[in-house]
Amino acid sequence: MTTSELRLKKTVEKHYKRFMVGDWVRITVETEDGFTEHHYGPIENFRKHNGNHYRRNVAQPYAAFLHPEYTRSHVVPLAELVEEREDFEIITEFSIVHKDGPQHNYGVYQCLGQHGSYPPPANVMVIHKMSGRKKRFCNACNTAKYRVRFAEEALHYQRNCKQTILELRANPILLAGPTAEPGRSWDETPADEYRSWAETFPWLVPGPAADMYAKWKENQHETATA
Ligand SMILES: [Zn+2]
Repeated sequence: MTTSELRLKKTVEKHYKRFMVGDWVRITVETEDGFTEHHYGPIENFRKHNGNHYRRNVAQPYAAFLHPEYTRSHVVPLAELVEEREDFEIITEFSIVHKDGPQHNYGVYQCLGQHGSYPPPANVMVIHKMSGRKKRFCNACNTAKYRVRFAEEALHYQRNCKQTILELRANPILLAGPTAEPGRSWDETPADEYRSWAETFPWLVPGPAADMYAKWKENQHETATA
C-alpha cells in the first residue's frame, strides 16, 4: 500500500470505528435550570438509529448506549460523543509535574490514585481543561477511570455551588459589593464571601459576574496605588 492509501485507510477506520465498546466517553447534558454538565461513562453497546439493539454484527452504528454515574442512562448519537481523553491535558515532563513539590518529600509529589499509605511518586500531571484543576498520578493510575473521577469532582462542585452561581447570574454586581472595613478583615461582608468563593472556583463564575469582578479588582488596585 502506498502512503496515501495507508492514510486513507486510517482515516476511514478512524471514522468508521471511532469508538469501541468499553471506551470512556463524555456527553454534554443541559439541565432544566440552565446548567451545562459533563457526564462520563463507558460505551456499553451500539444502537441503531431508532435506538434498537443490533441483532447481528454492528455495521454502521449510529448511537452508543452508556450509563453515566451521575445522570440517567443515555442513547447518544456517536457524533455527540467526545473521548474522555480530550478533556484533559497530560503533562509528563518531570520538572513541570514536580514544580514546587513538597519539601517534606524531597520536592516530589505523590500519586493521588489509590495506593493506601505508600503512594508512589507521580509520573504525570493531569489538567482538567474545563476547570483548570490539576491532579498528579503515577502511570498506573493515569487511566480513563481515574481521570473521569477527577472530572466528576468538578461536576460535584458545580452542583454544590448551584445556589451561588444562580445568585451571581441574576445579580453579577454582588461580586463588587463593599469590603470589610480596614482593620476588620475578620468581619467578612457578603461580597467578600462571594469574592473568596470566586477565587476558589474561578471556572464556575458566570461570565458577566467575572467581568464585574475583574473591574472591581482593577478599581481596588487603582485606589490602592492612587
Ligand atoms: Zn497511582
